[in-house]
Amino acid sequence: MTHPFLDLAPLGADRFAAIEDRVARLLSTEQDVVIMQGEALLPLEGAIRAAAGPGTTALNVITGPYGQTFGDWLRDCGATVVDLAVPFHTAVTAEQIRQAFAEHPEIDFVSLVHAEAATGNTNPVAEIGEVVRAHGALFYLDAVASIGAEPVLPDAWGVDLCVIGAQKAMGGPAGVSAVSVSERAWARMAANPRAPRRSYLSLLDWKERWIGGGRKALLHAPAQLEMLALEACVERIEAVGLDAVMARHASAAAATRAGAVGLGGGLEPYVYEARDAAPVATTLRAPSGVVASELVARALEADPAVPVAAGGGALAKEMIRVNHYGPDATPGAVRASLAALGAALSEAGLPVDVEGALRAAGEAWRETF
Ligand SMILES: *Cc1c(COP(=O)(O)O)cnc(C)c1O
Repeated sequence: MTHPFLDLAPLGADRFAAIEDRVARLLSTEQDVVIMQGEALLPLEGAIRAAAGPGTTALNVITGPYGQTFGDWLRDCGATVVDLAVPFHTAVTAEQIRQAFAEHPEIDFVSLVHAEAATGNTNPVAEIGEVVRAHGALFYLDAVASIGAEPVLPDAWGVDLCVIGAQKAMGGPAGVSAVSVSERAWARMAANPRAPRRSYLSLLDWKERWIGGGRKALLHAPAQLEMLALEACVERIEAVGLDAVMARHASAAAATRAGAVGLGGGLEPYVYEARDAAPVATTLRAPSGVVASELVARALEADPAVPVAAGGGALAKEMIRVNHYGPDATPGAVRASLAALGAALSEAGLPVDVEGALRAAGEAWRETF
C-alpha cells in the first residue's frame, strides 16, 4: 500500500527550480533566490558567515532576540560590530540609522530584523534601505516574520540578502527556507576567503554548483516533503492573493490591539504606537502585579486552542504574545484569544469587559480589511 508521505517520486531539479521561481515572485525580486534545506536559521547564519569577515564593520540593529544572535555571529566572524539597540516597545527609525553612519562612516554591512514575532514590532525597511544604499553598505534583512504579513520587497528597498521562512504568516513548513541574494552580495562572498565553502552553511556552493550550472543538478537530496509543503503553501497564497493574505494579518493585528484595549483589566499593547506594531503577532503587557506566563497558562486552560504564548526568556514575566499568523489570522482566532485572556484576567480578580473587547475587535477588523 502506498503511503502519502513515504512512497513519493524523487523531487527533481526542474521542480526545485520552479519552486524557487515562485518564491522569487512572492518577493517581486529579480535576484537569485536560493531555497536552503533547513529552518531559516540556516540561511540567516550562512549569509552572515559568507558576507562578513575581519574587514567588515557591521551595524547590527537589535529590536528583539534575533538581532542579538546576529551580533554574536558577526563578532564570531571577526567583524567589528556597532550594536544599535532599540527598546522592544518601539521600532528603529531611518534617522537612527543615518546617525550611526555619521558616527561610524566605515560601516559596510547592516543587519536588521524586519518584523519580530518575539517582540511584536516592525521596522520601516523602505526608509532604512534608502539610508543604507546612500552609504553603499550591504543590507541583510530577516524577513521571516514579515513575509506574508506585510510587504517584503528586496529589490525596491535595496536589500542584498533577504531571508524568509514559510512557518509564520505564509502558513507553511518550517524545515526549508529561502534567501534572495543580490549581485553585490555574491561578489562580497566570493571575495571573502572565510566564507563557508563545501559546507552545509555555504551559499557559495549553491551559487557555483546549482545556479552556475543552470540549475540542472541539485547539490544533495532535497528535503522532499518540506519542498512539497512549501510549493503547496505558495500555491495557496497565489490562489487567494498575497494582498488578501497580508490584509488578514493587518486586520488580525488591528483587531487584537483594539480588543486588548477594550478588554481593560490593565492589559496594554506592548508596542506603544500602532504603526510600529507587527501585523504577524501582537504583544501585550500584563497588568502590574500579574505574571504574564501565569496569565497565559490560565488562558490556555480556558481554551487550549488559542494562539497565545508568554514572551520568551526574561519577557515571560511581562509579555503576552497573540500569534495570529498563518491559519490563525482569522476573526475567530482573535475573538477566542481575547475571550481566553478575559477569562484569565477575570480569574485573577481583575475587572474585564469581554463583550466590549469583542465589539472593538470586530469594528477594527472591518475598518482595516
Ligand atoms: C520566527 C522567526 C525566525 C525563525 O525562528 P524560529 O524560532 O525557528 O521560528 C527567525 N527570525 C524571526 C524574526 C522570527 O520571528
